[in-house]
Amino acid sequence: MSRIPIAAGNWKMNKTVEEASEFAEALLDLSPNTSDIEVILCPPFVTLYPLSQKLAQKGIKLAAQNCYWEAKGAFTGEVSIPMLLAAHCQYVICGHSERRHIFGETSEDVGKKVTAAIHFGLKPILCVGETIEEREAGRTETIVFDHLSKGITNLSKEEALSLVVAYEPVWAIGTGKAATPQDAHQVISYIRQQLVKKFGDNTAKQIRILYGGSVTPDNVFDFMKDPDIDGSLVGGASLDPTKFYKIILESLR
Ligand code: PGA
Repeated sequence: MSRIPIAAGNWKMNKTVEEASEFAEALLDLSPNTSDIEVILCPPFVTLYPLSQKLAQKGIKLAAQNCYWEAKGAFTGEVSIPMLLAAHCQYVICGHSERRHIFGETSEDVGKKVTAAIHFGLKPILCVGETIEEREAGRTETIVFDHLSKGITNLSKEEALSLVVAYEPVWAIGTGKAATPQDAHQVISYIRQQLVKKFGDNTAKQIRILYGGSVTPDNVFDFMKDPDIDGSLVGGASLDPTKFYKIILESLR
């Protein structure tokens, strides 16, 4: 079963509206192929709507970096999924390691976000991954299982078709030390096995699993060669339009 690859750029807390607009113009000038790959930008909240005006017709999609599970109400500082949909977002990152480790999001919180995203019609990109201490203690699968199982706990088979999972080992994020394709393959195969157990073979085969952590134009092809790896979630290298364009090209090689 062929899965459409993804190149997603997570800008984190970078770029003003004006800087985002300059990025969009530069990327559009390069005319990236968006018919054989889903190209997704994940800018800060305030940049989503202005970027959508520039990118929508070119087939470049938008993801928010976070969301809250309630539709509206007294939740100061939060942004709801209906608001994201109204800003022309199609995806939302749930449980990025910076949310888990800096802002104390639990796997249960992440599960509520994933469930709500699908309920309202936004596709979640569920991030899972271990720290270096956890890896060295031989706990990689235990941690990935906790993140994954609590993230998808409420999903039906049909809902799971909207899910994207990103394996992002914390030790590889922003460090310049990407996982080896073999390490990524091992954990991503484990994730796929867990998806098979929960949703069955047919559904699990349709769910895309990305690798993230120090992805660059030079190493992305090594990940994409692996038939189990369906794309990348790119941080630092997605801030430069030329580098991100090269990542899209290399992902299709
Ligand atoms: P990085 O970040 O590519 O800068 O390592 C990846 C991420 O956090 O999604």
